[in-house]
Amino acid sequence: MRLSRSFLPTLKENPAEAQITSHRLMLRAGLIRQTSAGIYAWLPAGLKVLRNIANIVRAEQDAIGAQEMLMPTLQSSELWKRSGRYDAYGPEMLRIRDRHERDLLYGPTNEEMVTDLFGQVVKSYRELPQVLYHVQWKFRDEVRPRFGVMRGREFYMKDAYSFDADYDAAVDSYRRMMLAYLRTFQRLGVKAIPMVADTGPIGGELSHEFLVLAPTGESGVFFDGAFEEQDWLSEEVDIADRASLAKFFARMTSFYAATDEKHDEAQWAKVPVERRREGRGIEVGHIFHFGRKYTESMDISVSGPDGAPLFPEMGSYGIGVSRLVAAIIEASHDEQGIIWPETVAPFGAVIINLKNGDAQCDEICERLYAAAPDRLLYDDRPERAGVKFADADLMGHPWQVIVGPRGAKAGVVELKNRASGERSELPIDAVLTRIG
Ligand code: ATP
Ligand code: MG
Ligand code: MG
Ligand code: MG
Repeated sequence: MRLSRSFLPTLKENPAEAQITSHRLMLRAGLIRQTSAGIYAWLPAGLKVLRNIANIVRAEQDAIGAQEMLMPTLQSSELWKRSGRYDAYGPEMLRIRDRHERDLLYGPTNEEMVTDLFGQVVKSYRELPQVLYHVQWKFRDEVRPRFGVMRGREFYMKDAYSFDADYDAAVDSYRRMMLAYLRTFQRLGVKAIPMVADTGPIGGELSHEFLVLAPTGESGVFFDGAFEEQDWLSEEVDIADRASLAKFFARMTSFYAATDEKHDEAQWAKVPVERRREGRGIEVGHIFHFGRKYTESMDISVSGPDGAPLFPEMGSYGIGVSRLVAAIIEASHDEQGIIWPETVAPFGAVIINLKNGDAQCDEICERLYAAAPDRLLYDDRPERAGVKFADADLMGHPWQVIVGPRGAKAGVVELKNRASGERSELPIDAVLTRIG
């Protein structure tokens, strides 16, 4: 993308309406604009980040055999009356009436819809397990939408749903999903710690929230620092084998981690003092096993091994894709702006032309830019160097390629790493292989 022609409005001043760093930086870096309370438009650079995150989420869902589909945002009230949640859900649900006086709603989540679709298709226990997911906009009429996309009313979520023949198989599905989540967050370059969460009126032990540490988080968190050292991408787990899944899960849960609601002083005391981490966290994901709650209330069964109806055990698994954009920024920024992890950055690098109009500088910049025009941002604006440097730091590209007249003569450009601030001079071809 050429900056001179792009829809990428950076702001020098801090917008008055933004109270937290990520919201300020998302507005200043030209990622989003609010269109009404808690509802945002994603501008081109913001959309790239959202897509990058969603695609990593998809890859790890696919890796455990989950199947992507796409369910609509609008749902019929009839579905929710069947589960009993139409009245129970309360004012967070946006209710809509169409011209035929039929009651619809903008989905806050999809348990009812996916269970109904499952029931239309799956008829026998032999077709289990099934894990279905989609990445779709949700609407929750939050009382206090705030902090930008962190707590929006319309937000982008990946939600997956598992259907299993019995409890043990459902536990396997839950553990596979746990592994997929750990790998997803690691690939996103963010430390999200799974913490035992409340299962509400249904009970049971199988619910975890994933929290990213940040001072602006809404929950207090306590966890064993050893968790942060684990490498889940190289963890060897045979996801088709129950014993292997159990071993992984036992290791994972051996590290103490709890939000303030679930904090247990006796267990905490067993964590070595130097490994105790305390702080605040942002909920970026939530996984939940809830058994036959929906299959029974909606009367969705398959035929079991003995021919009798079998009500599948279910779980649901959410990741806040749009909230993650803000959470990653909360966890990765400095005074100058965003520091994007490479895997989610809107552009891999920015090319900064220090002297527009200089034949040599222009030629080198064009050559570099042509290597990967959709992964690179070319700052070709007729602006002062200081403005370009400030915007590059603000937007947080992992690499800055700085092309000036002195280096151009010698056939070298400067390469700056945004995270470390390290600079080096490199021949143009070497930079081409690095950023291309
Ligand atoms: P919260 O406690 O923040 O209200 P929740 O527990 O109600 O979230 P879930 O129903 O568990 O949310 O939804 C799954 C994920 O969707 C959450 O972990 C979060 O990342 C994201 N999410 C929920 N509500 C919002 C929102 N208003 N704006 C942005 N993301 C959200
Ligand atoms: Mg909520
Ligand atoms: Mg919550
Ligand atoms: Mg939750």
